Amino acid sequence: MSLPQRTSRTIQIGRLKMGGSNPITVQSMAATRTQDLEGTLRQIRILEKAGADLIRIAIDSDKDVEALRILRAQTDAILVVDLQESYRLAEVLAPLVQKIRYNPGHLHHHEKQKSKRDKVAWIVEQAVKHNCALRVGVNCGSVDPEWLEKFPDSDEEAIIHSAAEHCEILDSLGFKNYLVSLKDSDPKQVIDINRRFHAMRPDVPLHLGVTEAGLPPEGIIKTRVAFEQLISRGIGDTLRVSLTVPFDDKGEEIRVGRAIIKDIEEGRFRSVPDFGEKKLNIISCPSCSRVENEKFVELAMAVKDMAQYAKEHAITIAVMGCRVNGPGETDDADLGLWCAPTFVNLKKKEEELGKYSYEEILPRLKNELDQLIAQKQA
Ligand code: SF4
Repeated sequence: MSLPQRTSRTIQIGRLKMGGSNPITVQSMAATRTQDLEGTLRQIRILEKAGADLIRIAIDSDKDVEALRILRAQTDAILVVDLQESYRLAEVLAPLVQKIRYNPGHLHHHEKQKSKRDKVAWIVEQAVKHNCALRVGVNCGSVDPEWLEKFPDSDEEAIIHSAAEHCEILDSLGFKNYLVSLKDSDPKQVIDINRRFHAMRPDVPLHLGVTEAGLPPEGIIKTRVAFEQLISRGIGDTLRVSLTVPFDDKGEEIRVGRAIIKDIEEGRFRSVPDFGEKKLNIISCPSCSRVENEKFVELAMAVKDMAQYAKEHAITIAVMGCRVNGPGETDDADLGLWCAPTFVNLKKKEEELGKYSYEEILPRLKNELDQLIAQKQA
């Protein structure tokens, strides 16, 4: 068997061709702090050894850019960066990497008087100057507020329209070397938004991913379900499997990604598990250089073990590694934890319940979980 033909156009990311009839590429991200040069280089080597086609490095500051400059001189891996809120960093990053991801939901943070189009045009200018590809990365946790306002009842519509809007801007600027990602932590949602977007823009290459898929094996199952449904329909040109695993095991994301593609190619599909409302759902981020306390991974594992007694309850617990995405991406969970350097923030949906030490948090969470179960049973 072979994978279905894809309708996406081919784009060029450094020496790599992506989309169209090119093989589906697999990527991951260095989880270490970028300024930890030794650790980050080690991560790059681990990912390369596992067969990563592209490796993302987190950049949050000028010091990170300096670190990237040093790393760039030591590796010829195809590197990708994420602009987060500082879109202006594109100018110094474009000469150092092969692809830049920008999030349409973060463009409004700075220079509010400047239009979206002007900001994108500026990013494109940097990309063209240095032969960089772009990814428009739309995430459920940080959708452009303008689109959320237009579709207050449907994040899904807001995500799809925001991505389509940026494709139109890029097209109108004559820039074609881009792809799009539409991510969510719910695999059903990932399938739906990607299928709908693909129907609108079959020419645009897609980067697939389920955010905060969590710990193996559940994180792998969630991702597999989404990828099976999409890749088997010719949707998806590159992918990332996001797993919460210790830094040294990050190569697992690549191995799992390749195994999923191979299984689909050879017609081995798993039955689709029910991600309906009746089961405990633990989501956790894959960790990255923004993690401020490495106890995060242990905590995610401990939460999973502790919460097993609640596995028949329709409760979502989210465990996030940092203050950048933690506060927003825990809003939809019944109980959310996000990690700071010396304490963990506990939330119940959007309500903040307090800050607890890494030692105190588990019993405190259990207490909230017990109350939630009691409420549901009542
Ligand atoms: S939540 Fe924070 S630590 Fe986790 S992957 Fe996202 S940015 Fe990185």
